[in-house]
Amino acid sequence: MSPETSLFQLKDVSKTFASADGTQLTALERISCEIRDGEFVCLLGPSGCGKSTLLNILVGLERESSGEVLIKGKPAHEVPMNGWAGYMTQQDALMSWRTVYENIEIGPELRGVDKAERRRIADRYLKRFKLEDFGSKYISELSGGMRKRVSLARTLAYAPKVLFLDEPFGALDIQTREFLQDDLMRIWEDTHKTVVFVTHDVMEALRLSTRIIMLSRRPGNVKAVYETVGRHEDLGLFAEIKALLKEELTELDEADRSH
Ligand code: ADP
Ligand code: MG
Repeated sequence: MSPETSLFQLKDVSKTFASADGTQLTALERISCEIRDGEFVCLLGPSGCGKSTLLNILVGLERESSGEVLIKGKPAHEVPMNGWAGYMTQQDALMSWRTVYENIEIGPELRGVDKAERRRIADRYLKRFKLEDFGSKYISELSGGMRKRVSLARTLAYAPKVLFLDEPFGALDIQTREFLQDDLMRIWEDTHKTVVFVTHDVMEALRLSTRIIMLSRRPGNVKAVYETVGRHEDLGLFAEIKALLKEELTELDEADRSH
């Protein structure tokens, strides 16, 4: 892949955390992959394999312990991410004491958008996510599913070039989940933003992605890469990915799943 179309390049990226008891925990081990401009990449892997850690490294919240992370050929830590990266973290980072409007309008405000236009942007997303009547409510008054939608609206209202979404639809009921998946696909088709989407759900990854990067269990390493354009309903591929992911589940995960 030529450097012009490669947005991120990761070369042998490892991440080790120091624990309070002095031991070391290796979350990621020698990850090499790339993320291309305009693609919808799903990072798929079992719980605890380092997916969130990898996103934190990509957006510059964490530094890799070794290896190299390049953004358009430059070391990532030298490239300021504010302004072009929108990050929806796994635990939403909404300000619960503020209203829905006040949360969604933060991004446009940071970009210097005037008050009336900020409200128009917020209203557009509220309508899109069926939250028209909730702009003036406090976040603390919302259900979990509504918080997710507000969180996504806030990330999109910031108008980033690259979207990093960490299990954004994880805890939602199936209808809301499919509704938001469809909407995200439409947004991607309209804008061709680069999307890096973390999930542990094979169906979700196959449905949304143009490419899937599958990670092994911890320490996370690239286990497989699938080009998925035009294969969203390929049940053979679904079964193959599912089987490969199953190999990476620990007995504990299996026990979790049966509940
Ligand atoms: P995933 O998102 O795939 O579930 P994470 O990236 O959250 O995985 O975590 C990977 C591993 O790294 C886990 O074992 C987790 O406990 C550990 N970890 C993540 N962040 C930290 C941190 N700041 N300090 C210590 N350990 C961490
Ligand atoms: Mg995570």
